[in-house]
Amino acid sequence: MSRWPIAVEFKEDESLSSWLIRSALSLGCDPIVLTGWLWPKWRAWTFDLDRGLNTDKISELVKCSELNRSMFEAASLLSSASKFSARDLPRHGVWPWIQALGARNRLYRGGTQYCPLCFDCDLTPYFRKHWRFSWVTACHKHAVQMIDRCPGCHMPIESHRLQALDTAVLSQCPSCCFDYRSSPILPATTETTEFQRTALMVKNDGGVTICGSVVSTHEWFDLCKHLLLLIRRSVYLPKSTLAIAIRDSCPGAPIISSDNLILQLELLNVGARTDLLASLHHLLNNLEAFSKNLESAGALSTCLVDKGGRIPISLHFLFDALIKPDPRIYGSRILRPTKAKSKGTVMKSWVRLKRKYRLE
Ligand SMILES: [Zn+2]
Ligand SMILES: [Zn+2]
Repeated sequence: MSRWPIAVEFKEDESLSSWLIRSALSLGCDPIVLTGWLWPKWRAWTFDLDRGLNTDKISELVKCSELNRSMFEAASLLSSASKFSARDLPRHGVWPWIQALGARNRLYRGGTQYCPLCFDCDLTPYFRKHWRFSWVTACHKHAVQMIDRCPGCHMPIESHRLQALDTAVLSQCPSCCFDYRSSPILPATTETTEFQRTALMVKNDGGVTICGSVVSTHEWFDLCKHLLLLIRRSVYLPKSTLAIAIRDSCPGAPIISSDNLILQLELLNVGARTDLLASLHHLLNNLEAFSKNLESAGALSTCLVDKGGRIPISLHFLFDALIKPDPRIYGSRILRPTKAKSKGTVMKSWVRLKRKYRLE
């Protein structure tokens, strides 16, 4: 395999897929053509390339680009994703806190977002790695909301489908040719920027102190996931003691529609994640008040656990003042089978169907 006539360097924090698309357009060929030439027996764009490539595939890139192997390894999301969760990252399936592409053939259902002002400031527009994080919903540099659908045609961002004959830059929609740099700008909320600042600090510093206890990076992200579960539960059960305790603890939190919560965090669009993470930000900052409100509302400890009966150790202090139910009574309540599907179950199926057919 011969060296390419044009050398394309990685930009700061650039993702692997972004570099591949820019390389293809610089060479005057379509991204799909370039990857087909690099790896003839592999349909590259049906996979999430930002998760990283195996040794053989990186070797092909090293030969053509003459860049160091370490650059391709650093462009993957693997090292960041490993910080967000202590569990093994699945080969297939969703990685915690990484937006999922939902790839079906070469079409995506989401997963990629951009800041129009970053694109506008770039000499050559490119996608940043951190734009794939689920906790990123705004650009911290420009304090504007991220965009995850083309403002022109409302399709997901699928720059790998660009054609070199149409454009030389990746900030154009492959479906309607809209220039993403001209996207309407929406200011980011204070909660969003503050939450992102905290998450970035926890990621970079290796941990943080929560209510007097030191927690590691992945423990903090685990704890956030668990609090998100409680927020979701409170939205579906607005009259529950849990929901009342959350509302009383976080009076400034946004009102969340249950329609926006049906998919898991990594599959939600940027608008739904913005509201959810703003609520999380309020709850994180009022954990002690939340604990007291749970106690005064007479909440059962079971309202804090997930289906597996699990709660992160860093949140165990919330249990202290709660009523522990009789397991025999609790067990008899939850094990009764029911034939009719709930509204929530039906809505989940509907949203999954819409996502499958890329309707939103
Ligand atoms: Zn920006
Ligand atoms: Zn478009």
